[in-house]
Amino acid sequence: MAHWAVAIVGKLFGTSGIRGVFGTEVTPELALKVGYALGRSGVKKVVVGRDTRASGLVLQKALASGALAAGADVVNVGIVSTPTLGYATRKFDCLGAMITASHNPPEYNGIKIFEKGTEACVMRERDVEEKVNGKAKMKAPAAEWNAIGASSNYDSAIRDHIEIALEHVDCACIARKRPKVLVDAGNGAASVISPYALREAGCRVIGVNCEPSPMFSRRLEPNAENLADFSKLVRACGADLGIAHDGDGDRAIVLDEKGQMLGLDAQLALMCESELEVKHGTVVTTVEASLAVREAVERHGGKVSIVPVGSREVAERIERGKGAVFGGEPCGEYVYPKAGMLADGVLAGLKFVHMFCEKGKLSALRATVKTYPIMRGKYAVKDKERAMAKIKGALMKMGGKKNTEDGVRIDFSDSWLLVRPSGTEPFIRITCEAREEKACRELYSKAEAIVKNSVR
Ligand code: MG
Repeated sequence: MAHWAVAIVGKLFGTSGIRGVFGTEVTPELALKVGYALGRSGVKKVVVGRDTRASGLVLQKALASGALAAGADVVNVGIVSTPTLGYATRKFDCLGAMITASHNPPEYNGIKIFEKGTEACVMRERDVEEKVNGKAKMKAPAAEWNAIGASSNYDSAIRDHIEIALEHVDCACIARKRPKVLVDAGNGAASVISPYALREAGCRVIGVNCEPSPMFSRRLEPNAENLADFSKLVRACGADLGIAHDGDGDRAIVLDEKGQMLGLDAQLALMCESELEVKHGTVVTTVEASLAVREAVERHGGKVSIVPVGSREVAERIERGKGAVFGGEPCGEYVYPKAGMLADGVLAGLKFVHMFCEKGKLSALRATVKTYPIMRGKYAVKDKERAMAKIKGALMKMGGKKNTEDGVRIDFSDSWLLVRPSGTEPFIRITCEAREEKACRELYSKAEAIVKNSVR
């Protein structure tokens, strides 16, 4: 019987799976244990993939080894985007582990679990955590020598993902227009798929930082600062649009022909409109969604369904509340339920290309999205839970439509307010947005008074 005495204290999984610095927080030993736990979860198969980080291969092999030792078969997909791994778990109707730290610096790595085409639920994560921490009694021993799992490769994982993505955009429309598209994968996992998918769709593609490499040429978080050079290139090349990905390709950030980022709220609002034009229904988004998103959805006769932060939450709500046509997080993670219940940055990029081909310059489209005054602040607190309980009590006395699934969000006719504890830091955060500057300030002051009173 194998013994996995693990000295991991506290919660293993955060909102984006396991994440930490390689060697100290995320070790080969931990990957082996997670693989072993997955192999003993009652499924026969585990798909294992990784992004382009230097520590990826070590962790992938360790995790695969654990799963094999537990008697599960392992399907290796190598360097792939996170959505590619997700689709593979749907194809094989099994579990999957993606070795990635998304947009974090190169010394980080992590493990994200998928199950049958979607991010694994909290229950599954808890089960893995218990097995890794050794709290749950292991009833069966590790596999005997003749029951060790079989290892194979799934070489067409990327090809199959490209097919799925191309099926869900109008390639004839794109091929007629032949747009010039710059794509920046930050040398991450999207390097091996996004430029190829765009090319096949009929775009003229210029790849920037599209050599898969552990030496990232830019910081992987696709924000204005990190995309400053890319922005200049989009303009200099006379491209019709630019698409930038994070390290594992589940996000797409879009730049117009002037090299300007559309902005996270505006690009989400535009995508909501575009999807609702095809089919009416509900759009699922998170507590951080802006007024622009609400307006775009309401203008097209749709309904907004608000969920806690995280693409898993978005996908879960789409699946439960049948009829949702699209789900998106303001960070650039979009879920297209017809293609799959996961955030797919490759497909999102293609969808924006199609938007350009159908409707014209993205700068002009961007100009149709109104943006309003927004205020944000954070307040240090020792006991987040205690403070939040007090804050909630006070906020519930205010008017408006309340949602308490992730902090407290209150929607008024011309504004909204969100007070939620930070997931990783000892802070309570306030966000508010209103159509008028004065109303925004007033609403913020009210919330600030409540928070200050409660964190004391
Ligand atoms: Mg990501």
